[in-house]
Amino acid sequence: MFTKVTDDSGQLTAIRTSATARQILDNPLLNKGTAFTAEEREALGLHGYLPQEVETMQSQVRRVYRQFKEKTDPIDQNIFLYGLHDFNTTLFYRFCAEHVDEVLPIVYTPTVGDAVEKYSTEFRRPSGVYLSYEHRDRMDDILGRYSDKGKDLIIVTDGEAVLGIGDWGIGGMDISIGKLMVYIICAGIDPARVLPIQLDVGTNNQQLLDDPMYLGAPHKRISGEDYDAFIDQFVTSVEKHFPNVYLHWEDFGRDHARSILERYREQLCTFNDDMQSTGIVATANVISTVEATKTQYADHRVVMFGAGTAGCGIMDQILDAFVDSGMSREDALSRFYIIDRYGLVVDDMDGIPDFQQPYARKRSELAQWDVSDPSNISLEEVVANAKATILIGCSTVRGAFTRKVIETMAKNTEYPAIMPLSNPTSLSEAEPKDIIALTEGKAIIAAGSPFAPVSYRGHTYEISQGNNAFIFPGLGLGAISVKAKRVSDGMIRAASKTLSSFSPLRKGTGNPVLPPIHNANQVSEQVAIAVARQAIAEGLSAINATDDQVEQLVAANRWLPNYVPLTR
Ligand code: NAD
Repeated sequence: MFTKVTDDSGQLTAIRTSATARQILDNPLLNKGTAFTAEEREALGLHGYLPQEVETMQSQVRRVYRQFKEKTDPIDQNIFLYGLHDFNTTLFYRFCAEHVDEVLPIVYTPTVGDAVEKYSTEFRRPSGVYLSYEHRDRMDDILGRYSDKGKDLIIVTDGEAVLGIGDWGIGGMDISIGKLMVYIICAGIDPARVLPIQLDVGTNNQQLLDDPMYLGAPHKRISGEDYDAFIDQFVTSVEKHFPNVYLHWEDFGRDHARSILERYREQLCTFNDDMQSTGIVATANVISTVEATKTQYADHRVVMFGAGTAGCGIMDQILDAFVDSGMSREDALSRFYIIDRYGLVVDDMDGIPDFQQPYARKRSELAQWDVSDPSNISLEEVVANAKATILIGCSTVRGAFTRKVIETMAKNTEYPAIMPLSNPTSLSEAEPKDIIALTEGKAIIAAGSPFAPVSYRGHTYEISQGNNAFIFPGLGLGAISVKAKRVSDGMIRAASKTLSSFSPLRKGTGNPVLPPIHNANQVSEQVAIAVARQAIAEGLSAINATDDQVEQLVAANRWLPNYVPLTR
């Protein structure tokens, strides 16, 4: 029904279609609304379906902006934009490209968290693919429907650990959709070549189970071997129908996230955003801190408060950067401390999960520490005794970085790096304005949520948001551009270093550690190039290319939100 027309260089110049006028208008990837030209209206039989005036995309964008601003509640803005996305995808992405700062917090975190919670009550129309445990025998048929459509990217979630808000069952679909939007906004992944998938394995959220409007499978989560077999069946089917796909795991629960990534990362090109993206951004911040403050890695001690999926994923990558700087792994580990519910993780504690074990401190090392209860060593005590220089929060404990903790960080080092990464804003470990005041403007800050700039002693401090959007879109674009077979540690390191090279902090302390989010496009492109080159260097790509060719490949894989002429 649709044929792409390309020129000699392979550029798309038009789409030829035999579809009816109604089918064209109902296809969000083809619909242009009032921007269909007079010739298109004539050729495609669109007269009568549209008001007479032919608009430019620019005037459409102006109207969308006006309608967007008329809605004052972020969730209403989110619903409005998702509606536009399902009606005219190209216009939606052009609007997003021109208003990145305003749009990202609406289609993605923090507002997407509200959208997830209200998924069943605000439901308008289905989008994406729903694979439920009950219908597992049909999974292969369902995925097979999309196999000839050429998919580059799949985002899959089971909705167990959404942002910092927990188990929202089928509502997780909105996270997959929001994340895909960020891929497309920041890196130009082709919206026709992506697939959001919800694995519905039930929910342990009693509020949802008690809600008669809940749209997911109304039972407790499938677990253990049944769960593992379901995931295995899913991966097998994905590999069968989409052999070159980049598979992104999103918001799985702590134990599943880690075990799934470990199980499949040597098998296909796969990535876990919670465990890997945040770590790449945080590592970029650490690299920028070390370089901008003209210190050595050996001068730093890193403390993680909240050693769950994100926390330990971040520590693994910062550790990798320390080792990459030339330090031995043991030496690097001796500078790392993790704190969870029962205080500092120490090797004589019971039931330390596998992923925390490398960071468990030996009890004997703490003999000289000044602590009130050795079986539960607090954050304040760790920061003071270890003389921490870098402090990161992934605990969802609001206000955990107390005045004492922050003041001690400022005593330990001239430029402490403090990153309260927990989302949403209400769960942040500290408010940037307090960190700035308590460190007299010296702290290097990255927060998990967006915060307004802070004025302090005549200087305005922009607050960097440790936004994964700097990383996962470019990493995905790079891997897709060279059809990478895996996502290696080397590709991840390349992404961190590239992001760090954009840090305004390098131009002087007092500047933000991350670039403004409206630079995400530029950052993504460079991240993609660095990742693609690294994949080729490691022999992990299906395409071989010189450094220059990689730039062209990445550019050729970028979709731009422009209307393409439609003809009969
Ligand atoms: P998680 O549940 O896996 O980890 C949270 C950890 O905090 C758990 O290990 C828990 O035991 C620990 N914890 C809870 N209360 C504590 C306390 N009082 N003291 C010490 N530790 C405590 O969740 P996660 O996926 O790792 O996410 C954690 C937070 O990080 C969330 O708010 C999430 O939104 C945020 N996060 C932010 C980004 C980002 O900024 N880009 C990315 C990923 C996750």
